[in-house]
Amino acid sequence: MAIYDPKSLKAEEFINDEEIRDTLRWAEEHKNDQALIREILEKARPVRKEKGYTCKGLTHREASLLLANDDPAVLEEIYRIAEEIKLAFYGNRIVIFAPLYLSNYCVNGCVYCPYHLKNKHIPRKKLTQEEVKAEVVALQDMGHKRLAIEAGEDPKNNPIEYILECIKTIYSVHHKNGDIRRVNVNIAATTVENYRRLKEAGIGTYILFQETYHKESYLKLHPTGPKHDYDYHTEAMDRAMEGGIDDVGLGVLFGLELYKYELAGLIMHAEHLEAVHGVGPHTISVPRVKKADDIDPTQFDNGISDEIFAKITAIIRLAVPYTGMIISTRETEAVRSKLLRLGISQVSGGSRTSVGGYAGYSNDERPHDTEQFDVSDQRSLDEVVRWLMENGHIPSFCTACYREGRTGDRFMSLCKSGQILNCCHPNALMTLTEYLEDYASPETKAVGYRMVEEELKKIPSDKVRRIATEHIEDIKNSNRRDFRF
Ligand code: SF4
Ligand code: SF4
Repeated sequence: MAIYDPKSLKAEEFINDEEIRDTLRWAEEHKNDQALIREILEKARPVRKEKGYTCKGLTHREASLLLANDDPAVLEEIYRIAEEIKLAFYGNRIVIFAPLYLSNYCVNGCVYCPYHLKNKHIPRKKLTQEEVKAEVVALQDMGHKRLAIEAGEDPKNNPIEYILECIKTIYSVHHKNGDIRRVNVNIAATTVENYRRLKEAGIGTYILFQETYHKESYLKLHPTGPKHDYDYHTEAMDRAMEGGIDDVGLGVLFGLELYKYELAGLIMHAEHLEAVHGVGPHTISVPRVKKADDIDPTQFDNGISDEIFAKITAIIRLAVPYTGMIISTRETEAVRSKLLRLGISQVSGGSRTSVGGYAGYSNDERPHDTEQFDVSDQRSLDEVVRWLMENGHIPSFCTACYREGRTGDRFMSLCKSGQILNCCHPNALMTLTEYLEDYASPETKAVGYRMVEEELKKIPSDKVRRIATEHIEDIKNSNRRDFRF
């Protein structure tokens, strides 16, 4: 039997089934231990330092205990602390991105995804480089600066060379005042050599959802194709880091397996990355199974309610305070709104989840033929930006850290020392100004400039405030762009 070892490079040892089961048993037994719960909540709370804040985070056992507890007063406290952490490390900023689907050819058999090989009625499509350019122009015209590219796994149709070519094309397009400044990549688990090539191509985060940490379920949910190999998939982030990618993004598709098992597995994965590579995940995404062609989410009997979903999000915030958290347009405006307060730091906006879904379509039109899932939040980017501001969040198009080489442990140490807050706030205001000047509707512009003016006053350093104000004036009065701290 495999023994739990967070430092091991073997999937069955760092995501250890026996340890997860034992954790869940222990959490059930102690879930009403008031003293222990108090202790864990105190541990999670951010502590003010001379510069910024510090946070201890939670272990997978502590996080599981909070999840097992069902006292409403404890839940309120979890939400309060999640909000405190969010404000301490991320302030009121929300980073914006959009997915770009390159190809839906796939040789895998994932039962929850419409791109699975056996789906013969979905049209298969792969963008040519000309089409990639057209998509990027359309995304730049919306105001996007940060993309997450998506492609199915198909060595013949979507080899690594194709992905690399697309990344090159994306970075090469500069339309009007637009450019894409960070390309995050969501493609199948691959080799160290391929990760090295992705790193050389200048990618931001490498994102790979585990889907489920429960091996038995994983094997059933991925009955055919290379993705069937649980160990190869689970060990992918170690290979990515070996290949030099130090920003990796984890995620679980909630609804596939029992959520308590998944949360423990997810936190264990983060602990493993920290133990082996000295840096935890850059981001964690919290998708839920959604309706799509050939997919009925009710066939998965582990679906979770909005309430449990919010609780999980808040507990992840407590457990890994320095990790960015992402929510997509899979969720409705109402759910997104609640989760933004509880720790989400990145959202997608104006998203199309089909191959070639942007170019040639107006805001109200969206092609459904190759959609990977139903988009619940169908508002345009302009509407999402305005909505965020009206709810007190600063939409940020910032990509400064990656472009200044602040990735992996360099990013984390800045984040942990509270320094990041001194860059993030002015960077958010400058990139928001770019958006307002170049892409926003008059209504959004009016709300935005009021916000920029108010938020500038909150920059504590006189020098930083002066420089940010000068750059903002420059953006308004010239075509100069891309200022950053
Ligand atoms: S989830 Fe990914 S690997 Fe699985 S069928 Fe869909 S595109 Fe292919
Ligand atoms: S300064 Fe760095 S951490 Fe802050 S928003 Fe920009 S990229 Fe993110």
